[in-house]
Amino acid sequence: MTKDILSPNQERRYARQISLPSVDFDGQEKLQLASVAVVGVGGLGCSAAQYLAASGVGTLTLVDFDEVELSNLQRQVLHQTVDIGVNKAESAAQLLRLNNPEITINAVPKKLDVKALEALCLSHDVVVDCTDNLEIRQQLNQSCFINKTPLVSAAAIRLEGMVTVFDYQDKSPCYHCFSQLFGEQQLSCLDAGVLAPSVGIIGAIQACEAIKVVIGIGDTLVGRLLIGDFSTMTFREMKLSKSHSCSICNT
Ligand SMILES: [Zn+2]
Repeated sequence: MTKDILSPNQERRYARQISLPSVDFDGQEKLQLASVAVVGVGGLGCSAAQYLAASGVGTLTLVDFDEVELSNLQRQVLHQTVDIGVNKAESAAQLLRLNNPEITINAVPKKLDVKALEALCLSHDVVVDCTDNLEIRQQLNQSCFINKTPLVSAAAIRLEGMVTVFDYQDKSPCYHCFSQLFGEQQLSCLDAGVLAPSVGIIGAIQACEAIKVVIGIGDTLVGRLLIGDFSTMTFREMKLSKSHSCSICNT
């Protein structure tokens, strides 16, 4: 019906996705018209952003104030050795533009304050949380809650990772419900170490969930926390419920 949103080149580029019955032209057009923000372009962010860009998300915004360091290159696969010292959002955007010149990629090379995070959540259809900073995680949750912008949240460290989706519907839990329940660990890759593919696997799952949310297909991880143990390569799932004492979503 609205087939002409995609150019003939885009139809060829995305042909293997369009041939999925659940995606089809309609789904690919939804992706082309969608805007997704990736906050944090480290290990998770590089993995998620790579698939979001290649699969045809029309507007991709990458946010990171940090610069590429030599010790990042082991797992942050969008940054090259020559990018050491370059801002991570800029470095990743540069490579992704080479991969897919058909989409708009915005690099935001700064730390966003609360107001800027709210504007980001308001202006994007989905936010992918790839930060390792608890304060930004809580702020993103609050901003996404206010704007009802779905948030794909994840963490990975050592040989472990977890991922979930918050959709901020009436009965759904939010990140604050989750963090109240499980507590928060400020563990960094610097302290604990991380096997490179751990962030790759979890970041790819984040991209998959964001795409499903945009197109409206499948069952997303809303209300479910997927936990991966890569030392045994097993996944388990925990149910996440709304907390009745949550100061963010239970108002
Ligand atoms: Zn909550």
